[in-house]
Amino acid sequence: NDQTETLEFQAEARQLLQLMVHSIYSNKDVFLRELISNASDALDKLRLAALVDKDLAVDIDDLHVAIEVDREARTLTVRDNGVGMTRDEVVSVIGTIAKSGTAELLRQLREAKDAGASQELIGQFGVGFYAAFMVAEKVVLVTRRAGESGGTRWESDGGGTYTVATVDEAPQGTAVTLHLKPADAEDNLHDYTAEWTIREIVKRYSDFIAHPIRMAVQRTGEGDETSTETVTLNSMKALWARPRGEVEPAEYHEFYKHVSHDWADPLETIHMRGEGTFEYEALLFIPSHAPLDLFSPQGRRGVQLYVKRVFIMDDCDALMPNYLRFVKGVVDAHDLSLNISREILQQDRQIRAVRRRLVKKVLATVKEVKTGQPERYRTFWTEFGPAVKEGLIDDTDNRDTLLEILSVASTHDQAELTDLAGYVGRMKDGQTDIYYATGENRATIENSPHMEAFRAKGYEVLLLTDPVDEVWVEQVGSYDGRTLRSVAKGQVDLDTEEERTEAEAERERQRAEYADLLGWMGGVLTDSVKEVRLSTRLTTSPACVVGDAHDLTPTLEKMYRAMGH
Ligand code: ADP
Ligand code: MG
Repeated sequence: NDQTETLEFQAEARQLLQLMVHSIYSNKDVFLRELISNASDALDKLRLAALVDKDLAVDIDDLHVAIEVDREARTLTVRDNGVGMTRDEVVSVIGTIAKSGTAELLRQLREAKDAGASQELIGQFGVGFYAAFMVAEKVVLVTRRAGESGGTRWESDGGGTYTVATVDEAPQGTAVTLHLKPADAEDNLHDYTAEWTIREIVKRYSDFIAHPIRMAVQRTGEGDETSTETVTLNSMKALWARPRGEVEPAEYHEFYKHVSHDWADPLETIHMRGEGTFEYEALLFIPSHAPLDLFSPQGRRGVQLYVKRVFIMDDCDALMPNYLRFVKGVVDAHDLSLNISREILQQDRQIRAVRRRLVKKVLATVKEVKTGQPERYRTFWTEFGPAVKEGLIDDTDNRDTLLEILSVASTHDQAELTDLAGYVGRMKDGQTDIYYATGENRATIENSPHMEAFRAKGYEVLLLTDPVDEVWVEQVGSYDGRTLRSVAKGQVDLDTEEERTEAEAERERQRAEYADLLGWMGGVLTDSVKEVRLSTRLTTSPACVVGDAHDLTPTLEKMYRAMGH
């Protein structure tokens, strides 16, 4: 066939495949979950395409996944009659890994100390389709895009290359056939041609899938005659529509993995329902780790939107503010049009109301975790704190809650973060403001001369090192009626009334004494500084540069300069 091409995997894809072929992930069973998850996505996409485009000549009456086993040939096929792929799509999505953060993941994998650490990284990343190569020595994919006449056949043994060919005959949808490696108990490689193995894996990982997953099984009748019978392996119950008390944690976790493409369990599960004029169900998850693309503009954000059990869109940003972009899950709204657009959603009053409730619920959950499970909260904050802080700028409605959730480093403790309430509780008699210092890292800030007076005085200073910190402290301005004040700005007056009058007299004397020197220095430095003055803020350094109360802090100044201002 002159249309058969042999192509090379993209470099990152090749490296990930190597890891799969050599099976650094111990739970091999999850390959089936990944293939079924992809099949289910393809069925959702087709149903949606048919709803939106009435002219699309496709049959959506019996959307399903079929698992086919050939014990003789030792093959396992996962087939769907979903949207399928064009030849170009096969080459671009199966031959490459477009997920942002792949390069970073591979770098971390190379540096990973042991097998356990590597597994965890792969688990956080989720390798999707390539998981097939954990159990198969050869994978063949045959697919036909809905609405097209010809199909595509893709084949690879997981080495550096794959072949693609155009085929005349192919059923609509996608069939992935695995030529299985020999079963190997020691390597957790089960016999994936055995009915009960497949039944168990499907039940465990894919029970909630909204389309039937079918398999033909042999039944032995009374008189020893065998017959073939097709059975549905999953219960298909939409998890979010079931009462909360009836869903097992493990079921929630598997559902999370399906919607998030993550292989690790979530940190928190939030299951809620809205009643009244606008009914909806929401099943949301806070992941246990940040995705590698949390701060990349191309990163996936938002939750999935369903309308009465029908999948409508991925990454529905109208339902989650940007600062909570890491929240995953599903919102099923009952009274929306099936072909609603993203633009209309953004404007919709009801959707905005749902979003407000979801945000409040997510923040309330985090607050609860913070009080009740400090360890868990610490994980949350380490992973997502820098994103959540953006909410202090964007979401004024929830600012108070966000300030309660916030934790920052402080001079109070070398290792532990503190919240603002903790800081206020430790404030010294006579201290009225909350002091903070910003900088690249803790050590730089602590060595800065600005800190001396505070150290001498025993005042705690919050140490802010995220770029976003500069912005929110400015905008928030105060907490609990106390001003947030930078140690690097304006006149810092740390003395009491009495000390002040005494010090003022002393300063007058000194000002007179040093007037000539200060005048001379001011003249020499006239291009670099506004003013040279005697300072009370230093205890050991001879001099330091400070900004006016309304000037930019040094970090912001650096940031703006880097941006070319
Ligand atoms: P993910 O599901 O996270 O996108 P995968 O590696 O599992 O990553 O799949 C990669 C892509 O291949 C999918 O996004 C989809 O575009 C395509 N794909 C995989 N399986 C199918 C299928 N059964 N039908 C249609 N497209 C598929
Ligand atoms: Mg997938």
